Amino acid sequence: MNSPMYSSGPRGPIMSPIPLRIADNNLWPFRLATGGVLLVDAGWEPDGDVEAWGSIEAQAAGLGFSAHDVRVVVVTHEHIDHAGLAARWAREGARIVARRAGMAALAAGLEGLRAQRHTRAAELARQGAPAEVVAGLLGTRTAQQRWEPCPLDAIDAAEDSGSWVLADGRSLRLVAAPGHTPGNLVAVIEGPDGLDLCSGDTLLPTTIPTPGLHFPGALDGDPTRWPSLPPFLRSVAALRALPVARILPGHGEVVDEPTRLFAQFEAHHARRGARVRGALAAAGTATAFEVTRAVFPRLPDSRIGQAMTETIGHLDLLAEQGAAHAERGDDGARIVWRWGLE
Ligand SMILES: [Zn+2]
Repeated sequence: MNSPMYSSGPRGPIMSPIPLRIADNNLWPFRLATGGVLLVDAGWEPDGDVEAWGSIEAQAAGLGFSAHDVRVVVVTHEHIDHAGLAARWAREGARIVARRAGMAALAAGLEGLRAQRHTRAAELARQGAPAEVVAGLLGTRTAQQRWEPCPLDAIDAAEDSGSWVLADGRSLRLVAAPGHTPGNLVAVIEGPDGLDLCSGDTLLPTTIPTPGLHFPGALDGDPTRWPSLPPFLRSVAALRALPVARILPGHGEVVDEPTRLFAQFEAHHARRGARVRGALAAAGTATAFEVTRAVFPRLPDSRIGQAMTETIGHLDLLAEQGAAHAERGDDGARIVWRWGLE
């Protein structure tokens, strides 16, 4: 049962996996029954750090395998810190596995990230953010970033991937979990002691993950937004129904009490949802910026974009429930949210 990638956990017979670490990103390696290694998440080069790959190779050697042994790299979602090194793994001989909804972003690399970022800034302006707030958001990422496009023919669709048998006898399968991104997935490892859940950024030990603002057609100039929080909440609710024993997150430490994390996630969104609902009901009509300011009167401008992102998510939820709807404002450009039915 034991392999060099596992060490005895505090609870004895249950083995604790050891991730490769790049900055605070976890790359989870699993030995395959057929030989070689499956890795959950590709990692990245933080701030363009070209030494990151060398660190990955050194850590892998410490766990008893090399980059060439990696046959499969599952990308949990199309964000730079999880997908940035996909092309590099493909060159080493690995097949990259991602959900179809995330493939275009992996194939576009940094160009796709830039398109998302600019479309997001324009959306925040439409949702009522003042120009200086939007300019501040665009100016905050000055660090050098690298994200090499991954050839599409190196990527297999997770929808077609089936499952893998691991060297310790357990099986690993992928589960669609749209929300944190449109192409988001998680990996579930089924063993006799319950499930290990490689959660990517869907559940994190110390923060509530953002639903983000997503524009699937941004690269083609289409600013249509994909409402992310409603599917995010459904994805997490579906995972909560599984017998999850441990969470192996995309960032931070292994979580041995998954129920606590699920409960925190749900409590956070119940609380935030109630405040957004209350603020819009009181105003009758408001932009997402105005709702955010009503909920967080003293939040600094540097954090307002993130807060608006979550507000918009909860407004999407109210729209789905039929309690609110979005309209064009008087100037034809702004989006205003109106309490009540259309
Ligand atoms: Zn992410």
